[in-house]
Amino acid sequence: MELTELKEKIKKIALDSGAKLVGFGSQERLKNAPPSGDMNYCLPSSQCCIIFAYPNSLTALENYFSKKERLSLKKELHFAYSNAWKTSQTIAEFIENNTEFKTFPVVPNFKYREGFPNIFKVDVAYPDFSLRYGAVAAGLGHLGWSGNLVTKEYGGSLFLGGVLTTAPIEPDPMAKENNCNGCKLCIKSCTSGYASIDEKETAQPVIIGDQIEIYSKRGAYSKCGISCLGLTGLSEDSKWTIWSPNHVSLKKISNEEWKDVDIRRKLMYDLVSNKETPEKIRNFNKKLIKSSSLLARKKNVALVPAEKHFGPRCGNCAFICVADPLERAKLFKMLKNSGKMYIDDEGKEFTKKIT
Ligand code: SF4
Ligand code: SF4
Repeated sequence: MELTELKEKIKKIALDSGAKLVGFGSQERLKNAPPSGDMNYCLPSSQCCIIFAYPNSLTALENYFSKKERLSLKKELHFAYSNAWKTSQTIAEFIENNTEFKTFPVVPNFKYREGFPNIFKVDVAYPDFSLRYGAVAAGLGHLGWSGNLVTKEYGGSLFLGGVLTTAPIEPDPMAKENNCNGCKLCIKSCTSGYASIDEKETAQPVIIGDQIEIYSKRGAYSKCGISCLGLTGLSEDSKWTIWSPNHVSLKKISNEEWKDVDIRRKLMYDLVSNKETPEKIRNFNKKLIKSSSLLARKKNVALVPAEKHFGPRCGNCAFICVADPLERAKLFKMLKNSGKMYIDDEGKEFTKKIT
């Protein structure tokens, strides 16, 4: 099969799966990217990355940010991850069955080179292959201030899937413009203080296709990990939370203070063992930790059944970044007015508006 025909057929498989964007990038464009942009780690002699994106719907995002309900977004997350994984396998099989080229389907999330991140042992963990970097190389967009991919069509509110291959498929043109408009709502909607609102990252330059991608300075990764899991997330003004009944503001703990292991140990003790923390909350936190252990064991989010996955509870930095700046501002307003999440004695989640 000619490479041009192969490319068209692959594109069709991805679009038929429900993906809205598909692009092809090259190892050449990623040669100066950080290590997780090196395709050869997964597949020696890789030449091409095929990246596809599943955007979130505005209705699900509105319900999520206003705290009306989060199950619609959970369904979309589960659809996107399980579809991304299934599609990457279908594309890989298609290439291997019809050509002499090799492939590597990329796990869409929760597969790390150094093992699963752990608040006490592994603070930063890198994926086998960074789908974000691959997406930039494939012309889908550029990194925004959040550090997430931002596309022209759907902003950064999407999930990615991908396949690596030794097939030298012609890459698509890189995106001309960076569609991040610097609104910083990604950082304002984050309660963890993981990323800086005004300082840019200099420790880890991201160069893709000879272009430098600018993004916010990172703090302790585990602050994001804890919030993303749903273990705690309270705004600085104490008026709204993420989807968590634990109301500790991590933003008030500086990244410097966070290095003190006793501070992290005390936080985890309060969340799961301290008898002064209501039992229903401790039980809720134990469930979250169990769900995270399952993800660590499976090493692939797509293999965890939806009912055993307790997310999404944060992810705000990516979810809020819809393409239309006005819709984005509306989502942020909804979040600020959404109040705090609590659980009742039966463990049912509810919210209270704070005036
Ligand atoms: S929320 Fe705004 S600043 Fe953040 S990545 Fe998206 S467009 Fe850029
Ligand atoms: S996932 Fe949540 S805690 Fe982590 S950086 Fe994004 S908004 Fe912040």
